[in-house]
Amino acid sequence: MRKSVVAGNWKMNLLTEDARDLALGLGPSNDLDGNVEVILCPTFTTLWAVRDALNGQPGIALGGQNCYHKESGAFTGEISPQMLLDVGCEWVIIGHSERRQYFNESDEFLNEKVHFALGAGLKVMFCIGETLEEREKGQMNEVLVRQIEGGLAGIGDKQFDNIVVAYEPVWAIGTGVTASPEQAQDAHAFVRGVVSNTFGETIANALRIQYGGSVKPNNAQELMSQPDVDGALVGGAALDAEGFAAIVKHAG
Ligand code: PEP
Repeated sequence: MRKSVVAGNWKMNLLTEDARDLALGLGPSNDLDGNVEVILCPTFTTLWAVRDALNGQPGIALGGQNCYHKESGAFTGEISPQMLLDVGCEWVIIGHSERRQYFNESDEFLNEKVHFALGAGLKVMFCIGETLEEREKGQMNEVLVRQIEGGLAGIGDKQFDNIVVAYEPVWAIGTGVTASPEQAQDAHAFVRGVVSNTFGETIANALRIQYGGSVKPNNAQELMSQPDVDGALVGGAALDAEGFAAIVKHAG
């Protein structure tokens, strides 16, 4: 039985006061389900405030939205896994489609980041997903295979304990268009199959695969009740405490 994992990707939103309020809004009053692993990924500048607001609340972990594959040095504007750990993160998102699209992050580059982040002691949410054009051209499977084989190349069996894959069709991110439960299930089953072929069945069966792309309180239950959907990576809807708490409840 795979434990559901629901993460909120706050993207480049919220100044300190609002980030703190949102974290406080997710406090014990919302009665988050202990059967669900919950991760909040605020901006780098508000991580400390969110950490303090959560005040060690069990069941909610912190994550960074990105990291670089060096510990320190002359890499202006970047942040290291060690820095994320230092501020209280357990997790990091790597390979989000916005990083791939706007910052040209390639599978090879992402693979370096995955290795370095895991080696430093972070857990990784590794994002994959096809664009609308790729889906319409019938290239979805090919893209997913490339992203998995490239991004996770060389990852050892034990390291998979610290990896979650997020399937996020790019056409569904921030668009309000959600994959249907059937589309999500088909893609997740395919991804699990690719992981099985590449890394073995045991790893594939244990791997948690989140769905991401316009998840809302009103569609979360149906999506996450699919057999191969093990939670959600939530963008826009994670900026509302009640809505996010409702999504977490649906994952339980
Ligand atoms: C995301 O940013 O990972 C995401 C899925 O965004 P949204 O929920 O807004 O589509």
